[in-house]
Amino acid sequence: MHQPSPGLPEFNYIRPASYEEASRFLFDHAQEARPFLGGTDTFVRMRDGVWKEKYLLDVKALPGMQDFTFDNHQGLVMGAAVNMNSIIASGEVNTYYPLLVEAARTVASYQLRSRATIVGNICNASPAGDTIGACLLLDGVLNVYGPAGVRQEPLNNFFRGPGETNLKPGDIVTTLQLPNPPQGMVGKYFKLGRNKASDLSIVGVTVAGYPDTDSVSGFRIRLALASVAPVPLEVKEVETLLGSTPITSQLLETAAQTAMDACTPIDDVRASARYRKLMVRNISRKVLDDVWSALQDQA
Ligand SMILES: Cc1cc2nc3c(=O)[nH]c(=O)nc-3n(C[C@H](O)[C@H](O)[C@H](O)COP(=O)(O)OP(=O)(O)OC[C@H]3O[C@@H](n4cnc5c(N)ncnc54)[C@H](O)[C@@H]3O)c2cc1C
Repeated sequence: MHQPSPGLPEFNYIRPASYEEASRFLFDHAQEARPFLGGTDTFVRMRDGVWKEKYLLDVKALPGMQDFTFDNHQGLVMGAAVNMNSIIASGEVNTYYPLLVEAARTVASYQLRSRATIVGNICNASPAGDTIGACLLLDGVLNVYGPAGVRQEPLNNFFRGPGETNLKPGDIVTTLQLPNPPQGMVGKYFKLGRNKASDLSIVGVTVAGYPDTDSVSGFRIRLALASVAPVPLEVKEVETLLGSTPITSQLLETAAQTAMDACTPIDDVRASARYRKLMVRNISRKVLDDVWSALQDQA
């Protein structure tokens, strides 16, 4: 029987004036404080009693949090508090990172995306996070302010388990950096949900590829999966396979099968593990076909 969720518990709202102040506070109150951006994960967890923090630090107003810049050297540098609608509306992001725009559009509704951030999606570390696959395949790197100073966290080694990342008490992500994408990159995200309105994915497949003279096939094609492993999962074997020999329909089928073999889904309210596995194969095949066709069209 569904239990009605209790209301938000009492907590202390803190708006720190500097990264140093925020980091020190989070470090000193490790078990009872957390930072938030849009709050779309944080307040739901607080309301449901899953998180019981005494202090929530609103870090949206810290310097640079709302900025985003693009240039041909650094690529995109996105302040952590930039919301998804701003990303979707940006001409530069549409031009250079259309895959990120496509992924962000699948997150819930316009209303939610006016609060939700890409960095929050990443830090929440849900295996179902819709924008994470795109950020992984775009070689995203987080810039983090922590007790020991500033450091970088490449996303390809950031996720430790459901809700678990390399972030430690006192760490605050300041920006997400996406390097300039390779020439001719084509990407696609397909989200299978129970409905099209506002649901987490049953399976999500992101594929990105581009011409690459260093590989035998002449292309580098990468694939990442959502909702079918404890962490957002890039299936490296797919890249190896599709780089090692000329690409044929049969090879794409084998790559889809490889994706299926690599995932380790669970049964939950959204779908069974068996259904998820089969959908990984079918959707991977479709998305690989789409990306491959687009790469051939531009050749
Ligand atoms: C109705 C509804 C529908 C949703 N649908 C989807 C969906 O379709 N797809 C999807 O992927 N998600 C969905 N979500 C989940 C959520 O909206 C996303 O994960 C969102 O991107 C989180 O961003 P945020 O800024 O709101 O994060 P917040 O709630 O502010 O933070 C999320 C996590 O990141 C941590 N954090 C925040 N800022 C920082 C920082 N600067 N440094 C370090 N850690 C930080 C927080 O402590 C928290 O653990 C949905 C949520 C709701 C309520």
